[in-house]
Amino acid sequence: MTSVDVYDPNELLERPLLEQLQLQRLRCTIEQAARSPYYGKLFADLKLDPESLQGLDDLRRFPFTEKQHLRDGYPYGLLAVPKAEVVRMHHSSGTTGMATAVFHTAGDIDRWADLVARCLYMIGMRKGDVFQNMMTYGLFTGGLGLHYGAEKLGAFVIPTGAGNSRRQIQFMQIFETTAVHIIPSYALALLAAFEEMNVDPKSLSLRLAVGGAEPYSEGMRERLQEAWGIPFYNCYGLSEMQGPGVAFECAEQHGLHLWEDAYLAEIIDPETGDRGPDGQEGELVLTSLTREAMPLIRYRTRDLSSFISAPCACGRTHRRLTRIQGRADDMLIVRGVNIFPLQIERVLMSMPEVGHSYLIVIGRDGLVDRLTVRVELTPETFKGDLAHLRDIQDRLTDALREEILVRPRVELLEPGAIPRQEGKAVRVVDERDK
Ligand code: ADP
Ligand code: ZN
Repeated sequence: MTSVDVYDPNELLERPLLEQLQLQRLRCTIEQAARSPYYGKLFADLKLDPESLQGLDDLRRFPFTEKQHLRDGYPYGLLAVPKAEVVRMHHSSGTTGMATAVFHTAGDIDRWADLVARCLYMIGMRKGDVFQNMMTYGLFTGGLGLHYGAEKLGAFVIPTGAGNSRRQIQFMQIFETTAVHIIPSYALALLAAFEEMNVDPKSLSLRLAVGGAEPYSEGMRERLQEAWGIPFYNCYGLSEMQGPGVAFECAEQHGLHLWEDAYLAEIIDPETGDRGPDGQEGELVLTSLTREAMPLIRYRTRDLSSFISAPCACGRTHRRLTRIQGRADDMLIVRGVNIFPLQIERVLMSMPEVGHSYLIVIGRDGLVDRLTVRVELTPETFKGDLAHLRDIQDRLTDALREEILVRPRVELLEPGAIPRQEGKAVRVVDERDK
């Protein structure tokens, strides 16, 4: 037996036992889902029931659930328990259109908190840690999700919520915060506030940070770790699957363990819906295995990732996902070329002159798409002479052209020129449809 220190022994389940547990939970989930108006009708029409599942592979017979089904059934079409059993609801952020409502029973909340506690334990958080949760509280799952998990672990939780940068930093000083949960783009923006207040994040009691809720590149992580002087762990989740804590990085910081005792994951080709070989990038499809109020079967997340099939050095058996590259919907088509915002971020983060924020603007000159990348510089660079700025502009344009195969217009901006956001960063403004 291995002696890995884990929060939950399930983290170390050998594959056959893990799959056995998955099948058992999957059957219960199908049975539970059938109690909702949407799945009840669907399964009856298609003559599907838990008995149709002899093995995990039989799940393929069940159709995908899409965000649109949740929107069509809004609000209660997928609710699988009597309303009196619901103790809480959350809403997705509505990043890509109408938001969806997700409901929880007391048991759902408890299992979710447990899963988050498992994630935080995995990166070394313990009772006694002071956890400053700088995520928006309310309908968004990022705030309350981590809050409950951290409390469950016994940490001292400070629910500051997002924004009010000066106060965030003061709280870190006064209460000797050791761990933070923060949106990566805000973590970068907050560095400006540290500079203004003349506080070095490295002089504080901070030990670690959790950052998720939006795509960010490895280069961005490196920057954050360097400036804050602590490790940043990637946290993935979505409100439809209850929220943050679906997959989480371990101390290895190489891929996110997807909790396979709580979710059954598939990666499909977003065009054809077929499963590819392990390791191939595609759209993540998730089936909840322990949700009661609103179980979802084969839910198409639209998020792009791939499995890392090699075992993780940490000893946990749950498969890892590579860093989420963004949503299938994030893909930009500029002059016929497919571009992901994260490709642009990767180039920007590799240049030390680039500051804390950027914005991608797509417009049109007549019939031709125009791609503009607006980039904030660091204060020192911005003060530099014109020849130096021109040189940076040229180098950025060339490096971007090389990465995305389209020549962008690069605009250099002074620090703070792009309005700060406290929630998920809006990185792209598409003016073509206006
Ligand atoms: P919305 O889909 O409206 O933004 P949510 O608040 O439920 O609503 O956000 C979940 C989505 O956020 C995920 O589907 C994914 O696109 C994104 N996301 C969450 N965590 C991460 C992460 N660590 N890396 C990349 N994207 C993430
Ligand atoms: Zn690991």
